[in-house]
Amino acid sequence: MKRLLKVIAAIVLAACSAVAFAACEEPAAHVHNFTGEYVSAEGGHAKTCATDGCTAVDQNIEEHEWAADADKPAIEATCHSDGTNYYKCTVCGEEKTEAQTNRPAHSFTGGYVAAEGGHAKTCAAEGCTAVDEIQPHEWDEGVITSKPTLFYAGLKTFTCNDCGTNKTEEISAKNSTTYKEDFNLAQDANGNQVGDWQYGTVDYKFQSPEDFDFTQFSAFTNGNDGWEDGGCEIKDEFINVHGKWVAVAFTFSEDVTANIDFSFISNQADSAENLPKFNCRIGVKDENGIVKENPHFIGGDNGISDCSYKGDKTFKKGDTVYFMIEHKGGWESGSLNITITKIAE
Ligand SMILES: [Zn+2]
Ligand SMILES: [Zn+2]
Ligand SMILES: [Zn+2]
Ligand SMILES: [Zn+2]
Repeated sequence: MKRLLKVIAAIVLAACSAVAFAACEEPAAHVHNFTGEYVSAEGGHAKTCATDGCTAVDQNIEEHEWAADADKPAIEATCHSDGTNYYKCTVCGEEKTEAQTNRPAHSFTGGYVAAEGGHAKTCAAEGCTAVDEIQPHEWDEGVITSKPTLFYAGLKTFTCNDCGTNKTEEISAKNSTTYKEDFNLAQDANGNQVGDWQYGTVDYKFQSPEDFDFTQFSAFTNGNDGWEDGGCEIKDEFINVHGKWVAVAFTFSEDVTANIDFSFISNQADSAENLPKFNCRIGVKDENGIVKENPHFIGGDNGISDCSYKGDKTFKKGDTVYFMIEHKGGWESGSLNITITKIAE
């Protein structure tokens, strides 16, 4: 009996020391009591074991019960960005987001922008860079931004009425140039004359051989429609000469044979005693200012109110043809019309 007790005591001692030893390593084995708090788990949430110190989670996972997160208002989708909905599980507090991808349509009521092949309306929404379908530009009638000359092409610039895009079209060099149309002489930003036509005075020498010095006018008339110097002006396509020579000159930029058509018509005499008198001459100088062709008188003297000249001439690059008019009384204004037409070789 005593021996039996000893055995039992040894067994109990062994069992107890085994229990005590195990308690140091991990919770004592027990039947979990899944009545604790819910925690988020893979695929949902599940209850924890209520036993103190036990971290076991029930294998029986329930689905989250999602509701809009009261602390995080949804960000609405716009035409150019997705929105976000925020959810929170009412049971375990797990959070999730979901993109709002049902974007509202663009509002193509903004301004036009240039696009490849035309223009398109932009979306009026702030921050949106979307553009509508591309439509062709609506070109205006265009303006001449560079006048063509007898030798050089000009440019016409068109602007789209909607988006402001520009395009240019070349205007072929002219076949003929008429001085009456070109009284608005081309000028650069400093007001210097840059066109082929020049307007000025001549200091005429009648000795043999005849010669002249041309001084280009530099002052504009009030209306900026011609040149004024020493009382001479071109205004409203008429030339006003007061007691001196005036001259119009054209410099050739290339070798050319051209037809010259010149006419000058003075205004009528105011009485039989005061008949129009003038003196028209045409001369040519080369690029060095040397008289190339003696100036010749083409009429207008003593009571005749007009004179004209027509003829073909061959010019070298740099040659200048001068049309000179001397005022000798009996008239105050006249109409000058000079046309130079290239003759095809
Ligand atoms: Zn447990
Ligand atoms: Zn949950
Ligand atoms: Zn948009
Ligand atoms: Zn356009």
